[in-house]
Amino acid sequence: MMKHYPLKVQVDYPRKILVIDWDDGHHSEYPFRYLRELCPCASCTKDREEKRPKILLDVAFRLDGIAQVGNYALNLIWGDGHAHGIYNWDYLREICPCPECTARREAQAAAEPSSDAR
Ligand SMILES: [Zn+2]
Ligand SMILES: [Zn+2]
Repeated sequence: MMKHYPLKVQVDYPRKILVIDWDDGHHSEYPFRYLRELCPCASCTKDREEKRPKILLDVAFRLDGIAQVGNYALNLIWGDGHAHGIYNWDYLREICPCPECTARREAQAAAEPSSDAR
């Protein structure tokens, strides 16, 4: 069960952002680059966890396609052919880059012991 559902999902290609209006009235705007950097697929997640530097060409940040997966996620297809990222609603809401959500994440990170401190 997802905690959050979008009422409306729009892609603004000129501004290179994905816009989501949520059922609780929250509004999110995700730059394409940000979404690609936070790609939730197994391979990108592993690279982030291992802090492996990733060299991506500009084409990798071009959104070539977007498909809804069931009623729980979006599949984003990138210009370099990378299409493994299934961004579910809760994940998208979790990574919302608005100031309010950024402040919430920072507060959480400060409260929880960092997973980097291994
Ligand atoms: Zn990925
Ligand atoms: Zn937000």
